[in-house]
Formats: sequence, C-alpha cells, structure tokens
Amino acid sequence: MADRDILPAVVKPSHYDLSISSLNFSNWSYQGHVSINVSISEPLKEIVLNSLELTLEKAEVAVDSGKSVQSFKTSTFSYDDKKQRATLQFAEEIPASQQATLAISFKGTINNDMAGFYRSKYKPVVPAAASVPKDETFHYMFSTQFEACDARRAFPCFDEPRLKATFDFQIETPEDQVALSNMPVKSVTKSRDGFQTVTFERTPVMSTYLLAWAMGDFEYVEAFTGRRYNGKQIPVRVYTTRGLKEQGRWALEHAPKTIDLFSESFGIDYPLPKSDLLAVHEFTHGAMENWGLVTYRTTAVLFDEKTSDARYKNRVAYVVAHELAHQWFGNLVTMDWWDELWLNESFATWAGWYAVNEFHPDWQVWAQFVNEGMEMAFKLDGMRASHPVHVPVQDALDVNQIFDHISYLKGCSTLRMLVNHLGVKTFLQGVGVYLRKHAYGNAKTEYLWQALSEASGANVNELMGNWIEKIGHPLITVAEEPGQISIKQNRFLSTGDVKPEEDETVWWVPLGLQGKVGEQGIQTLALTDRDTTIRDIDDDFYKLNSNATGFYRTNYPPARLAKLGTQLDRLTNEDKISIIGSTADLAFSGYGSPASLLSFIQGFGGETNHLVWCAVLDSLNGLKSIFGQDDDLKQGLENFSLKLVDNAVAKIGWEFSENEDYLTGLLRKRLLLHAVANRHTAASEKALSLFDAWVSQGTTAFNPNLRTVIYRAAIRAKPAEAVKVLKKEWYNGSSIDGKELCLSSLGHTRDPELIKSELLPFLFDLSPPAPASESIPSGDMHSLGSPLAANSVARNIQWDYIRENWSKLTTKMANPVVLDRFVKISLNKFVDVKYVSEIEKFFEDKDTSSFDRTLEQVKDAIRGRAAYYSRDRDVLREWLKANNYLS
Ligand SMILES: [Zn+2]
Repeated sequence: MADRDILPAVVKPSHYDLSISSLNFSNWSYQGHVSINVSISEPLKEIVLNSLELTLEKAEVAVDSGKSVQSFKTSTFSYDDKKQRATLQFAEEIPASQQATLAISFKGTINNDMAGFYRSKYKPVVPAAASVPKDETFHYMFSTQFEACDARRAFPCFDEPRLKATFDFQIETPEDQVALSNMPVKSVTKSRDGFQTVTFERTPVMSTYLLAWAMGDFEYVEAFTGRRYNGKQIPVRVYTTRGLKEQGRWALEHAPKTIDLFSESFGIDYPLPKSDLLAVHEFTHGAMENWGLVTYRTTAVLFDEKTSDARYKNRVAYVVAHELAHQWFGNLVTMDWWDELWLNESFATWAGWYAVNEFHPDWQVWAQFVNEGMEMAFKLDGMRASHPVHVPVQDALDVNQIFDHISYLKGCSTLRMLVNHLGVKTFLQGVGVYLRKHAYGNAKTEYLWQALSEASGANVNELMGNWIEKIGHPLITVAEEPGQISIKQNRFLSTGDVKPEEDETVWWVPLGLQGKVGEQGIQTLALTDRDTTIRDIDDDFYKLNSNATGFYRTNYPPARLAKLGTQLDRLTNEDKISIIGSTADLAFSGYGSPASLLSFIQGFGGETNHLVWCAVLDSLNGLKSIFGQDDDLKQGLENFSLKLVDNAVAKIGWEFSENEDYLTGLLRKRLLLHAVANRHTAASEKALSLFDAWVSQGTTAFNPNLRTVIYRAAIRAKPAEAVKVLKKEWYNGSSIDGKELCLSSLGHTRDPELIKSELLPFLFDLSPPAPASESIPSGDMHSLGSPLAANSVARNIQWDYIRENWSKLTTKMANPVVLDRFVKISLNKFVDVKYVSEIEKFFEDKDTSSFDRTLEQVKDAIRGRAAYYSRDRDVLREWLKANNYLS
C-alpha cells in the first residue's frame, strides 16, 4: 500500500479563478464557479478531485493545442463521500495538454459546523448594518476554515498541500458588508440591486488549505509595520464584528512588530502586501494561519484592559506570533504531506514563544513553556499510545487527530533543545537557508536538518533523528558514587512498565550538567550511548538538564532530590519547575512516590515566582485528581495545600496595584484560587462577600482577574444560586473571556442533581430546539466538559449522559475536530480500569474513525491513573499521617 492515499497524479492545477455569488441567507446556499488551469499528463476520460457537500452542476474542459481550443463538456458526476472525492466523467477522451482549463459550476452550503465556508452566530453589541442576516437572538458572520481538508467543502479543488497554485477570488456581497480574503481588494463593482462583487488581487503560489475569505458587519483598527517592504510599510488590521474593534488593540500592538521581528530573524521579508487578523465568533481551534488573513477564536485575539483576565494578554500575544510565524513556516514553505505537520506546528510554537520573549522578557515565557507546554507534551508522550513527532498519515482525513501535544509541544520542546545546543543565532540562520531554498514550495524534515547542518556545521540529523522519528522520550537514571555519577537512559512510560522491545532507542541527550569540579557554568556534555560515567562531580551540588532545555525526565537518588530541595537558591525557575514535573511524573509511573513529591514541594512555601508556584500547585492538583476520590486523602491533601500557601496568600493580599509586575498579578489570582479551592476559611469568606455584593448590587467592585476566585467560592458554598448566576453571566455578560471563565467555573459544581438538571443539558442540548441561553456552542463545549471530567462527582454522571445521548452528541459535534477533542477531555480522567472496558464496550459498535487514536490514549491515561491510585494510596495516607496532615 502506498504511504499516502492521494489524488491521481495525471491532472495538476496551477491556478484557480474562484467566484462565489448568490448567497442565500434563508437556506444558506450559494452559487460557485471555479475555473482551474491544469496540466493533463496523459489522455483521460475521467477527472478526480476533492469535493464534499457540494452539488456539481456542469463541468467543461478546454484544451489549448496551440492552434485551436477543443472543448469537452459533462454533467455526469459520481461522488465518493467517504473519500471526499468527485469524479467527472466525459464521453470523449480528453488529450494530454500542458494548457487546459477545467471549469466547474456548483452549489454549496454555508454550514454551521466551523469547517469549509461557514456561518458564526453572535450577539450584536451595537446596531448592525441592515443586510446582516439575523434571527431573534443572533446575527451572523461568515468565514472559512480549510485546514486540514475542508477547502473541498467550499469549492471543488485538488485539496492536497503539495498541489500549490495561485488564486483569483471574487465574492458577491451586500453593499453594506465587508468582504476579506488573503489579498487586498482589487476592485468592487455593482452586481445587482444592493449587491456588489468584490475582487481580490492574485495570491502567491500556495496550498488550498491556506485560502480564506470572510464577510460580515466588520470594522477594524489599523497600524503599520515599522520596517518597509519594497519601500512600503505594510498595513496590519484587526477586524471584528461591529462594536468590538477596540478590543483588538492589544493584538494590534503586537502583530506589526512581530512581522518585523520575523522578517529580520529569518532574513526573508514578509511576503504579502497586507496582514489581517479577524475575530470569528465560532471557531474550532485557537486560530488559523490563512496567508494574509489569519482567523481567530475571539478569546485568542481580543483583549479588554478593563474587563479581561490578564492571562489573556499572554495568550493573545502568543497566538498572534504563532500564526504570524506560519506566514513563513507553513505558508511560504509548506510541508510536503500531512505526516510532516510537525514542521509547521512545532516551529510556529517555538517562534511564537521566541517573539513573546523578545517583547516581554519579564513574563519569563520559557519558564512558562517548561511548566505548561513541556508538561503537556510529557504527559502524552509518556503513554504507550503516543506517536512519533513525524508520524505516518496514510489518509489525509486522519490528520485531524495529529493536531495534538506531540506535533505542537513535543516538537517545540525538541526544537528548543536543538536551539540551546546550536545557539539561537545559528539556528535562525539555518531557518533562513531553509526558507529561501524552498520558498513557494514544499519541504520535508530532512531539508530542515540539511539547512541547519549547513548553518551550524553540526550533523543535525544525527542529533535530532531519533527525537523526531521515534516514539517516546528518555528517563535518565542517576546513580552516585563519591566524586562521580553514572547515568543511564531508558524510554520513559508513565505506566512504568516499559518492555525491552519498547526500549531500543538511544537518544542524543544534552546533559546540561552543572557541578563539575573545577568547571564554571553549564557543561556541553551529551549522552549518546545507553549509559556512561561522569567523573569529577561536586558531591555537594550538581544538577542535570540545567534550565530544562532537554526533553527528558531525570531520576535522582532520593537523597540527592532531598538535598536539591534545600538548595533552591542554586536552581533557576526552569530548574525548579522541571524537577517538580519530573518528581510528579516519576511518582505517577512508580519510579518514585507521592511521598517524595510532597516532601520535595513542602519546601516551596516561601517561593515568590508565579510560574514556580504554578508547577507546585499543578502537581498538588494532580495528586488530588487521582487520590481525591478517597475523602480522607482529599482532606489530607487540602490540609497540606492550605499550610503550604497560607503565608504566601496572606502576603500577596487581594489588592492589585497599578505598577506591580505582570507575574505578581497572575500569582495573586493563582494563590487565592488555590486557597478557595482548598477551603481556606478567610479567603473563601472574602470571595463570597464579593460574590454577594456583585449579585445584589449588580456592580463588579472587584478586579476582573479575581472572577475565577469568586466564582469558585460561590460554586462551592452556594451551588444552586451560583450555577444560575454564572449561566446568566455566560449568556448576557459582555466580557469576551468571561464566557470561558463562567464555563470552567461551572465545571466545579459538586451537586449531582444540579449537574444533571442544569449543566449536562446546557452542555449537550442543541439550539434550536433548546433556547440559546441553554445551549453551549459546540466549539466551546470543552470549556465545561473538561472541568466536569476532572470533577470526581461529575465525571461519572457526564459519562452516563454521553452514553445515553450519543446520537444527540454526534449531531451537535458534527465537526470531527470538536468530537475528537471532547472524547479526549471527557474520558481521560477516570481512576479505575473498569472504565477501560466500559469505554471499549460502548464504542464497539460505533464509528470511531475520527477519534480512534484518541481512544487509545484515553485508555492508556486511565490505566496509568488507576495503577497509581491502587499502588500508592496507602503510601500517601501514611505520609499524610506521619506529617500531621491527617489524624
Ligand atoms: Zn499553528
């Protein structure tokens, strides 16, 4: 079997002329016409291309022989819905030709599944243009989402990343609405009464998945790049539906300087004459890097200083930079096939954080990446059901499941390891070589390695090959003798049961060793064999993987770990975060224990850094999520938590001052949230009084950063009232990110009746027939489903509901990306292997093709959690008792 299931190679496109017209706002249909310049390499009577949910009306092939033009017409089509292909059948044989035109007329639907050409509903904040489609509650805007395989839902095309072409695009719109596409507007002409045809300039050569257009009641804020490109500063605009544009300012502050930074860092100018960012009200992912017209989930691009949680500043700055990195990495140079998706996503992730770090060094985003990005990558990659970064993708429709923590975060972690080894300047030089060499073309992993080798003189393939091509990552086990250490690498599995045949990879492991006698700073030693011994080690202090630049876990002897716990002043924030993460993971897998984790983190009560606190508190939440189903262990862990944070909570207080640094504000929220979640009496009372004042007076007398703290206290103390209030706030509130915060807070409800009557219908019902106020849009379902799964009272109830209402769920989550994500977040938190069999049994007779990989990972996650619980619950109980956290 071929390694990829692709369209027949005989017809190749080079240019599309696409026209969309007659948009019907009652039945959501539209009329399309596409004329494709193709080469035909051998005579044929059939042409196969991609088409989904389209009705092809007629097609004509015109073949130019140089002397005359021959025409072949057909209206005979057959469709293969499973493969998402259409075959055009012609009565006569069409000769081979380098210059043929394939013209197709078709009808399509503006769907509401967030894929292809789709409509998004939103509640208007100001009166809208007269022509905007509306119903009793909502207005509608229109946009596209084509990655990975959904250009074919909007127009018939050769929908594969290698089949690059240029695009002319035009769309007929009502005169009072705004149309956008990848390129600037070329012309606007009147088409019929009240309508105009907007034509856009021709795009560069690019893949179909990067084409985009949008239409709606839009307004924008604008800025320009500081650098000049071909003599001109490039206009950068943030578009929103009317009334929201001012919330685009924060993104606008970042986008132009990010474009300049990348142009200089990569040594190749931003290739398009404009850069638009568009906030889309219903969205599957965070954002989509359409060339010149990046589309975003609203919370990933909009920020309001007065009403937003400060955390979204970081999110917006990062997502904007990530998508702009794609304008080069992905758009200018595109992966050859979906198996190389990591080339797009890992690099954009790395470059996104690189840019944010340049603009906000005080945010310490690399420490944040160690805590969030690397930890998430470790969790997935520690599973038997993980996959290599470079993963075979036979059928392009399977690629949706690869947009995961391996492709983004493990890949980025391994690139960060390489950057640290080569130096950022050399790395960027190599990136420049790669981009220039393959501009407007397609590339493979090895091409990037070649360019980086050229720039650095290192054999990058030898360093990186196993990190990208092989599954998993190593655990470095350290053994000590006086004045020396022996280290050994083995594959790490979070279930702790690696078999010899799973443990054959020997990785290049940069050791990041500090503490060699007579040497200053970090040594550039690497482990390239299974094991080795390093002499002249300082017995008093040494550490491996300094600054957590390596993607591996370190297992120190217990006495060394305890000693490092007394030497925190010699560890960087990244060191602390990665040692906490390693210790937690080793406990999970059985190489360590929850006792050693708690012993280590109990020394962090005096910590002042937000990101280190996050690592500490995340590890505690991890324990609570596994062992919290035993009431006494839950109580003991809460007692431990309260004692740990007590001083820090008292010290940081409730007041935000204007000139305090960014991380201090975040730390206040995090500490107070943890205090409230663990029943800190004074903090809970204060939070409740703020909640009551808000509900009774209707005013928000508190800082928007405290919303989660206050919501959480209310959900705990007075769930019936809080559920009602938060659902109302979710529906009526004007804060963009406030909606997400309401949903995530609601997920902590522990009253089974409320969960059944107020939350699950709210989560799963479709609207209509349910009122809009009682139905979460499918693109946001994970915001409530995920905390419900983490909630030991709710996760079973949710699972029962899922099983009883599966067909309703799959109707609501018709987009496979949404369904895949929901299956993952709702099922992976069980702590008993009986759920593995329940899941297997339930899905036995269901179509799981869009989430089969995810199901294996879910089952692995449950096995690991169940093993940890049964192995260590008594160990944990003993430790909590011995240390007076339990009587
Ligand atoms: Zn991306």
